[in-house]
Amino acid sequence: MKITSVKGFHDVLPDESARWQWIEQQARDLFARYAFAEIRLPIVERTELFSRSIGETTDIVEKEMYTFADRDGASLTLRPEGTASLVRAYVEHALHQHAAVSKLFYLGPMFRRERPQKGRLRQFAQIGVEAIGREDAAIDAEVLLLLHDLLAALRVRGAQIELNSLGCAACRPAYRAALLAYAEAHRAVLCENCGRRVERNPLRLLDCKDRACRESTADAPVTLEYLCVPCRTHFDTVRALLAREDVRPRLNPRMVRGLDYYCRTAFEVVAEGLGAQNAVGGGGRYDGLIKELGGPDSPGIGFALGVERLVLAVAEPDAARSSPPEVFVAPMGSAAEAEAMHLTHRWRGDGMRVEIASGGRSLKSQMRLADKVGSPYVLILGEDELAACALTVRDMVAKQDFPRAIGLSSSTAALREALAQLPRSTVEPRA
Ligand SMILES: [Zn+2]
Ligand SMILES: [Zn+2]
Repeated sequence: MKITSVKGFHDVLPDESARWQWIEQQARDLFARYAFAEIRLPIVERTELFSRSIGETTDIVEKEMYTFADRDGASLTLRPEGTASLVRAYVEHALHQHAAVSKLFYLGPMFRRERPQKGRLRQFAQIGVEAIGREDAAIDAEVLLLLHDLLAALRVRGAQIELNSLGCAACRPAYRAALLAYAEAHRAVLCENCGRRVERNPLRLLDCKDRACRESTADAPVTLEYLCVPCRTHFDTVRALLAREDVRPRLNPRMVRGLDYYCRTAFEVVAEGLGAQNAVGGGGRYDGLIKELGGPDSPGIGFALGVERLVLAVAEPDAARSSPPEVFVAPMGSAAEAEAMHLTHRWRGDGMRVEIASGGRSLKSQMRLADKVGSPYVLILGEDELAACALTVRDMVAKQDFPRAIGLSSSTAALREALAQLPRSTVEPRA
């Protein structure tokens, strides 16, 4: 019987992986320019890391984590997101002792047992950054500028950053009380989920996905109306710094993010072409999280983007095509095959992209293969070529042969130069 992949877990095939690589490369280039360094984190963590950081009453911890007992009885979990792991590593290795500010990024798979849908899988990849050690508004603006520049570099269709402030430990209690009072008064119209957990986590009410529940709580109080003076100043400064760079996120007072650890600046990215759930990712500030996980009282801010969602939303997938071989070597006969293998190995060693046909195929079938992989030149090596110690070149674009045009002992540089000097100018442009 044929074994298939698990529901919600998928393969990224070669056609698509070129686009993944392109997205990752754009991100890496930009992170380097913003002075973020890569951290590579394990996929498995202790379960309590996530229940303590993400929050016991969140959807993720309540019903989406892949949690299992290890053979020694320890409860382990496949990471559902990157921030908790990164902060765990930050605390464990006392990174605050190495530098006052840590600017880190990560790439890799995350796991959540959600209902699979377009661009939303149970194993999904995230690209994320975290800046730990600064609480001023300028670092929030820098992180948001990085996000803005990344979306621009990737040409994400209809990308829009939505911004909110969730307040702090000083102003959250008054807001929480107001929201709780509102929820009590509107208990009858809340959906089952909200009714059940509104006491433990009233903020969840605002990002409830139940449409009726959303509509009947449209006038619920929002955090922006309850910000203390320092939170208000922080928020206004972030927006002013961004406006100076002509970046104007859309205010969304109901956006509270799905995780408990966020405070002050919170944001989400939406894009076109993703269906009903149009978020590509998001992030925010988490000033209490590092202390909560046993570290110093350091503030932090970051974001994560879903790679599968980006793959659907980037505007020009052609920019992400893989590079075809520069030349395709087509040997005819066993003596030629050995020589062709030798040449191919040498050119590859010099950094050239070279494909070689498998043994025993006819020239016609090798040409079809060369056309399929998109190589612009085929280097033919048959008996005549062996005798003359020179390769015949077929220009696949011009459909033109140049018999025994390139010597077998040509260096890679000489080969490239000879190919570049073939008389292409005589070729009529193809309609
Ligand atoms: Zn505040
Ligand atoms: Zn609800």
